Amino acid sequence: MIKLIDLDMQLKELEPAIINRIKSVLAHGQYIMGPEVYELEEKLANFVGVKHCISCANGTDALQLSLMSCGIGNGDIVFVPSFSFFATAEVIPLVGATPYFCDIDLKTYNLCPKSLEKAIQQSKNINGTPKAVIAVDLFGLPANYPALQDICDRYGLLLIEDAAQSFGASLDGKKCGSFGNIATTSFFPSKPLGCYGDGGAIFTNDDQLAELCRSLRSHGKGSHKYENIRIGLNSRLDTIQAAVLLEKLSIFDEELLKRQLVAKRYIEALQNRYQLEIPAGIAQSAWAQFTIRHSSLPREQIQANLLSKDISSMIYYPTPIHKAEPMNSFPATDMKNTCKASNEVISIPISPYISEGEQHHIIQTLLI
Ligand SMILES: *Cc1c(COP(=O)(O)O)cnc(C)c1O
Repeated sequence: MIKLIDLDMQLKELEPAIINRIKSVLAHGQYIMGPEVYELEEKLANFVGVKHCISCANGTDALQLSLMSCGIGNGDIVFVPSFSFFATAEVIPLVGATPYFCDIDLKTYNLCPKSLEKAIQQSKNINGTPKAVIAVDLFGLPANYPALQDICDRYGLLLIEDAAQSFGASLDGKKCGSFGNIATTSFFPSKPLGCYGDGGAIFTNDDQLAELCRSLRSHGKGSHKYENIRIGLNSRLDTIQAAVLLEKLSIFDEELLKRQLVAKRYIEALQNRYQLEIPAGIAQSAWAQFTIRHSSLPREQIQANLLSKDISSMIYYPTPIHKAEPMNSFPATDMKNTCKASNEVISIPISPYISEGEQHHIIQTLLI
């Protein structure tokens, strides 16, 4: 069976180095906030090209901490695309704010600037103060930041980038994780840069937001651990996970190039038969997923055909967030594209280690 994301080959390549790194953590015994955590934060900030990286327990906490650091809570409205992983919007009611769901662009599956602007204008009719936008770089492709930043500037809104799927991607040479006021990522094992458990990080150039995030991830600490000056979370990245990530980061650029080659082959072979996400000139995707659509062939038939040839596939995401039970009473714009995408998308196997033979087999199966 060809897995959707195969991490076995990566482990084979890195196992001795990762075990050595973990052994050195066991030797010094600083399991919480050990030196590997600070080493990783510095390397990640350099990689993304921002001043501050604040690691934390997972990508969902990274989003929640970002909202908290921006002072977003009761009475605030946060605009968010409905076509994403649930966590992107889940954190909004969690901090007491109201999510306002927006539609996506069907070519990129990312937040549609026109839909966002419409939602901002319509939000005058509901209680609450528009405060922020969370944009998602879905499947690894950067959102349209020039257009989104322009809207945020005009309406005085903060921009938060959910780069959980796009670590390594870039737009016009600027890395994902560096857009907006504050950005977040996830190190869930199957993300482009994944650890062997949960992990996440926050990126920002804003000294004040960075300081708040550092405090909020450790019980609202002040100048030292037992001075608590605000209500926070217990959300730190384990030292052992930082050790794993340091080794994975050392080969990340090579992996990214390999993913891009795989994507290029898929695009060349499949673009006449399927709707694909093709990055525009200045955009580089991290290819967290390779997602295809066919507007006439039933999706079940495509999936069954893949399965019969031992090829995994997944539907990201079958239910738009605004239709999920805990979310369906919150305001939303027209969701034509979101609904079409969630009815038609299929993600097929992609990883830096998928062989040319496997790719050929997948392409032949999809071209039947
Ligand atoms: C994975 C993911 C998250 C959440 O990350 P976790 O580390 O699993 O908490 C948030 N947003 C998006 C778009 C994701 O893909």
